[in-house]
Amino acid sequence: MGSMPWLLAITLAAASGEEMWLINILQNPSFEEGAEGRPSQWTQGGAAARADLAWDSACWRSGERSLRIGRASEAAWWEGPRIPVRPADTVRSGVLVKKEPGAGAARIALVWIREGREVGITPGPPAEAGKEKEEEGEETDTEWFPAVVAGSSPPGADGVRLRLVAEPGRGAVWFDDVFLGIDNPEIEVFGSHVGFHTVGLKEFVVRSRVALIDPYAILAGVPDGGERIRKGFEVHPIPVRMWGYFHCVVDLTDFLRPGTYAIEIYARFPDGYGKEGDRKATGRTFRISDRIYCDLARLASGWFAPERCGVAVPGWHGACHLDDGALRSLEGDVTGFVEAAGGWHDGSDYSKLVDWNWPAVLALADLERLGAGWLEPKGRALEEAAWGVRFLVAMARSDGSFYTAVAGGGDPFVRPPEAETDNRPRTGDERPVLSSGAPVQAAVLAARVAWGLAAFAAAPGHADPDLRGRALRASRRSLAFAMRPPLPKGKDIDLWGAVLGAACALWRTSGDAEDQDIADDAIQLVLRLQHPEGWFRGAEGEETAAFDPQIGFPFVVALADYAAVFPDGSFAGPARDALERFFSFEDRLLQATPFGVPAEYSRAEERRAFPLIPGGPSAYYCATAYAALRAAEATRNPRFVFVAERILQWILGENPRDTCLLTGAGGREPATYLRPHPWIPGHEDGRIPGGVIGWIEGPASYSTVAQAWVVASFAEIERALRERARILDEVEEERRRRREGGR
Ligand SMILES: [Zn+2]
Repeated sequence: MGSMPWLLAITLAAASGEEMWLINILQNPSFEEGAEGRPSQWTQGGAAARADLAWDSACWRSGERSLRIGRASEAAWWEGPRIPVRPADTVRSGVLVKKEPGAGAARIALVWIREGREVGITPGPPAEAGKEKEEEGEETDTEWFPAVVAGSSPPGADGVRLRLVAEPGRGAVWFDDVFLGIDNPEIEVFGSHVGFHTVGLKEFVVRSRVALIDPYAILAGVPDGGERIRKGFEVHPIPVRMWGYFHCVVDLTDFLRPGTYAIEIYARFPDGYGKEGDRKATGRTFRISDRIYCDLARLASGWFAPERCGVAVPGWHGACHLDDGALRSLEGDVTGFVEAAGGWHDGSDYSKLVDWNWPAVLALADLERLGAGWLEPKGRALEEAAWGVRFLVAMARSDGSFYTAVAGGGDPFVRPPEAETDNRPRTGDERPVLSSGAPVQAAVLAARVAWGLAAFAAAPGHADPDLRGRALRASRRSLAFAMRPPLPKGKDIDLWGAVLGAACALWRTSGDAEDQDIADDAIQLVLRLQHPEGWFRGAEGEETAAFDPQIGFPFVVALADYAAVFPDGSFAGPARDALERFFSFEDRLLQATPFGVPAEYSRAEERRAFPLIPGGPSAYYCATAYAALRAAEATRNPRFVFVAERILQWILGENPRDTCLLTGAGGREPATYLRPHPWIPGHEDGRIPGGVIGWIEGPASYSTVAQAWVVASFAEIERALRERARILDEVEEERRRRREGGR
């Protein structure tokens, strides 16, 4: 691109809308966006307090704003947002500068970051007026002239910030129209680390810093029982950009031969970009097999056993919290005891939230029901569910409501759970049992637990009929509590969604017309809350989408339950329509991202209008996948299975960090786990096999609720893909008959 007119060329190209090799990663590059006197994305630094920094509307090169630094007595600067970088990235940046007489030198600098801390700086030369004009040899804007910098990311750096610096001086300096692009000649390939189901979606994301020319893919490998093959596939560019990357997709879905393979990507880069010639990238080795999700379901359901509380788990911990727990007054005095030993620790500490335990019961019971034909050993998932059921029943109050948690579990980094208390009841060191004061919370929780308990009762092959009976009675009592007038207002979608789910699950055990009546009433209230665009309001009159970052969309699952349990019910048609509208809306969101998961933008620098999800988004993703699979079953729309497959493949490593979120599944795992278990020999690394971690960045942690939804998703996708395989077999059989008939 030549020497100095580079910045001008970029600026001009951006203005003309032409495709550039490098794309500007920075948001708000002309400093037009902002609020309350501050430009968005840009912050002040250095000796800003001893200078006059402003978001200036009196002087600008484009738009109506610029950034000003006046009368700096020491170096002061504006600093941009963190941009992720990888090793060997070359970062190129430029900005246009205007200076008053007497102003100090102006320059830009790249500040390298590792885990939030500054690890190096690459300063550019001072901007010089007139240089641009000399080199171009033609009339240009001489008031504004470029400051540029380029640098390679040092080892270990994971991010860079751009700094717009003014050295001390009497006059002011203005900055406008900033550019930052990242140059890296690598092509990267992302796919599931674990592999793909034989009849499942098989997509790879290819990303690069420049637009690839004539890309194509080769699938290379050995089919089971066959000879080595090489087979070509198309590479489709997609118009979605993130973090300054171009993205393409390779789709192998129609390739159905089990075996062991790797994908190779070939492409040319634009002339003059880095090294000349063809490029090649090879993805990791993967399996195509019809055992993928059976094996993952068994692995993931095994996570719960080490998290059991109130019992010794050999190889993990001794019998813990046998004295759970104490009821205390506001002043802290013990007012009573609840025999609440049992249940599962929450994952990242030793607390036990009822609202995270019931989805686990629901998921494990579903796994037992759906896995009847393929899950070995039989009865193990139901036995694990039974462990949670005993805890939930113990947390029930006589009126059918629930205590919400046994909390205060101490620091898992410091001591094993069995050393937290003396494990002897009524000695004064018991952990507190908590309850919700709000009637609406109490009603929602009661309905949700009623649902989990009824799902448990509806599963086949009970070894303990007495426990099943207790679960059923507790479920009915809690459902009655949730629906007891006067009905609390405020969380209608949560309440009626859970009532609907509970009534459908109870009907599975009873076939009782009264349960169907409750379901018919509840579903009308749920359907009424759907917005024409497809999403659901939390309550009448609300104008934002109901959204629970952990529990997901139980009301959507309940709609699918209704359509499955009462296929000829009065509201089965409307339920199917509502599911179509909801997931058509979700599907549009998925397509707005290269990796097919909407919330990934919530943490991207190029943030979109998706909410930031606190804690671990894995719970939310897997809850979405589970709901999509249930909707696919109810509506017979195979697109919704693809929605779920994309999400699960994201969990299995097809994500921007190339990290497998399922521990022990065979993929590349995160560097550190939040829970180091230093007190368990052999478990110092904190990994629990089968555990799904909360997110792809930072120390990885587990949660009971994320685990519940990933188990439920694996069970459901196995069901959906068996159905797909059956249909494909029928199609093949029909073809064969036609061929033979035509002979
Ligand atoms: Zn415990």
